[in-house]
Amino acid sequence: MAADKISWHDRARSLDIRTKAFINGNYTEAASGQTFDSINPGTGKLLARVASGDTEDINRAVAAARAAFRKGVWSNLAPNKRQVILKRFADLIRQHGEELALLETLDMGKPISVSLGVDIPAAARCIEWYAEAIDKIYDEVAPTGPGALATITREPMGVVGAIVPWNYPLLMAAWKIGPVLAAGNSFVLKPSEKSPLTAIRIAQLAVEAGIPEGVFNVVPGLGQTAGKALALHMDVDCIAFTGSTATGRNIMQYAGQSNMKRVSLECGGKSPNIVMADCPDLDKAATAAAYAIFDNQGEVCSAGSRLLVQDSVKDQVLEKIRSIGKSLAPGDPLDSNTKLGAIVDDIQLKRVLGYIDVGRKDGANVFLGGRRVREDSGGYFVEPTVFDGVRPGMTIAREEIFGPVLSTLAFKNIDEAIEIANDVIYGLVAAVWTRDITVAHRTAKALRAGTVFINCYDADDITVPFGGFKQSGIGRDKSLHALEKYTELKTTWLDLG
Ligand code: NAD
Repeated sequence: MAADKISWHDRARSLDIRTKAFINGNYTEAASGQTFDSINPGTGKLLARVASGDTEDINRAVAAARAAFRKGVWSNLAPNKRQVILKRFADLIRQHGEELALLETLDMGKPISVSLGVDIPAAARCIEWYAEAIDKIYDEVAPTGPGALATITREPMGVVGAIVPWNYPLLMAAWKIGPVLAAGNSFVLKPSEKSPLTAIRIAQLAVEAGIPEGVFNVVPGLGQTAGKALALHMDVDCIAFTGSTATGRNIMQYAGQSNMKRVSLECGGKSPNIVMADCPDLDKAATAAAYAIFDNQGEVCSAGSRLLVQDSVKDQVLEKIRSIGKSLAPGDPLDSNTKLGAIVDDIQLKRVLGYIDVGRKDGANVFLGGRRVREDSGGYFVEPTVFDGVRPGMTIAREEIFGPVLSTLAFKNIDEAIEIANDVIYGLVAAVWTRDITVAHRTAKALRAGTVFINCYDADDITVPFGGFKQSGIGRDKSLHALEKYTELKTTWLDLG
């Protein structure tokens, strides 16, 4: 049925929400019996009480994952057999798309049209893409000369733990699930306590697709308990983390304190979007700049949260952004026409409003928005907000806000823009808009970021790696490069005499 024909509120009332951990092929309460509350950010009301996993649950999940790995029920399957099962898994996610989209929206507040049209299909596509790739990758023979045969092969690491955030709950999990499982590892997923419901639901779909028991486990819980226990576990070979830079630093420490497990980190950003006066299409650049910060309520790691605009065209660009921002009033996340949903919870709401206050106090001008709205709904909504007159040293020019708040900084020439752009601890993505091909290339080279967009923003495809320079992370998700994170390289040397 078309999305706009469905009463999502009716569907929400009859939704069967699974709330338990999924360990060794079965749903199970937390060993402690504890739960945490999942709150609907659109209403501020209780949605579900979710099993709060702890060290004991992590231990059980890791033991199940290790046992499955040792038995070889997944790790020793031929790649083309894993492919068939993972493609079935992706298909099941698509078939349950409406249910999963509803869970996602109720749990984290993004518009239902986005959950249904972007998050769930992209998650299915990601798993399918790795499934399709895995029987087309060859190993190597080293050019050692005639006296030996030396092969260089990739093997699954063993037990991979993933800790993921709440802004794209299922999609960020899928960026791990696809390459981790395609490579033959066993998996323990710790979703964010702010958005655990889709991860819990798809665990059953994984088993239904044919992934053997113990290979795919989900332990919901708090970061300080379940997350920490997973990252400190002596029998986890690798932690694939996506989340804030502050937590990423902790994860590295846990690895050092325990078994030196491999760590990959996809962390925060404060991405610069540089608009030059000679940009080929200012209207397009301004439109892209608006969506780069307002999409997903600004809760996007790669959000273009710093607009660096050449002073001669600043007013023109800002007027266009204002008109788009005004058309994006936050609305009921379950209304199919809503373009901007709720902020994930009251903590994040306070954080975003707190940064808006700091911006004002530091002397930046509120050009658009700046307030909480729809308070009567009980939900957590912030209107699209734009600051003008931001200077590079201000807090709102340096720290990740993770909300629909844009900081605008004017510059005179490209060298100044590059200096401002690189002068933060992050380096996730960056963009430059210019018709001068030499300036475009020179700037792309000079920007310290994992992805640089030229005359576009947030262009996306599963075929390209995604991740950050500097404190935006270590390693890359997506593309075939992600498989490197979840495999060990082995040399086997055969003496030929
Ligand atoms: P967060 O760091 O608070 O939490 C992320 C995950 O880590 C959650 O599952 C949480 O429970 C867990 N966690 C928290 N403390 C922990 C600890 N001490 N030990 C182990 N686990 C712990 O981040 P968040 O608020 O959920 O997500 C927002 C952040 O994620 C932003 O900084 C955003 O930029 C980043 N992000 C990055 C990417 C990327 O690909 N680079 C993608 C999405 C989000």
